Amino acid sequence: MGEFDLIARIRSAATTSDCVALGIGDDCAILRPDPANELVVTTDMLLDGRHFRLGEATAEQVGYKSLAVNLSDIAAMGARPLAAFVAVSLPRGDAEAIAMGLLRGMDPLARRFGVALAGGDTNAWDGPLVVGVTVVGECPTGAAIRRDGARPGDAIYVTGPLGGSLLGRHLRPEPRLDEASRLRDACTLHAMIDISDGLLSDLGHICAESGGLGAVIDIQAIPIHRDALALARRSGRDGLDHALHDGEDFELCFTAAACELKSLLAAVPTVRRIGVITAGGGLRLRDHDGTTHAATPRGFDHLR
Ligand code: ADP
Ligand code: MG
Repeated sequence: MGEFDLIARIRSAATTSDCVALGIGDDCAILRPDPANELVVTTDMLLDGRHFRLGEATAEQVGYKSLAVNLSDIAAMGARPLAAFVAVSLPRGDAEAIAMGLLRGMDPLARRFGVALAGGDTNAWDGPLVVGVTVVGECPTGAAIRRDGARPGDAIYVTGPLGGSLLGRHLRPEPRLDEASRLRDACTLHAMIDISDGLLSDLGHICAESGGLGAVIDIQAIPIHRDALALARRSGRDGLDHALHDGEDFELCFTAAACELKSLLAAVPTVRRIGVITAGGGLRLRDHDGTTHAATPRGFDHLR
């Protein structure tokens, strides 16, 4: 099978949606978003050897994850995904099988969330698998939930238990699109981020973008995933440490003022209120006895 046959197969299997006036097959796709909306655009690249190891992870799993992490970013803006664009560098030799595996991994997720596969780029080389996915989404103009909207006094929430995703959950992130939409219906959200680098690190991004704010987190309130406890048994760290610092949870962290916890729980039963935004003072952890101490994020940094 050559490049053009492969693209023809992808084209015939690809999902479409109403907003896609022109999908795979031309030089560009044409999207027609609702005129009352603005577009949100995100892109994420997964590299064999860095984000996964082909062999340990199947091409299906890589396909699933590469779309899911982008949908997670769309969820974190409180937006709705419209179309995905997939650029691949396939290892020569096994190119077609890997490409079809990627597609099998993405397709159910795309259908589930109504995302069209509207374009991409296909290359083969002697290097490892690289998958870059771009997702275009929409939300009512001015209504995206950004990182820079937190205010002192806001409560801080997360949508679910954290830590230990390296045990395997990181390959199957669940994009919190429905949860985000229910939460924003239930309450006025000020700032939101998806937890990809680790709770402290990503909450730190909200604080920094919102003008150098701080946060106090109640350690008793942090929901610790059972994977974090399982991992702690062999890592020499404790479950809380994994929950605070592990990346790739893909739960949402958000802030809001004057929300009824009851209505947030009705929207998403796993929501937990974990702390409060402060005017300054950096990130602090509050212990069982009420004392606080400074906490330093150690999220992953690709350039370190
Ligand atoms: P061009 O050379 O004009 O960039 P290509 O030959 O690369 O066009 O691609 C032809 C069409 O197939 C385009 O619409 C492109 O978006 C789409 N396409 C190519 N590779 C993929 C892929 N892996 N997944 C989805 N669509 C793809
Ligand atoms: Mg091209």
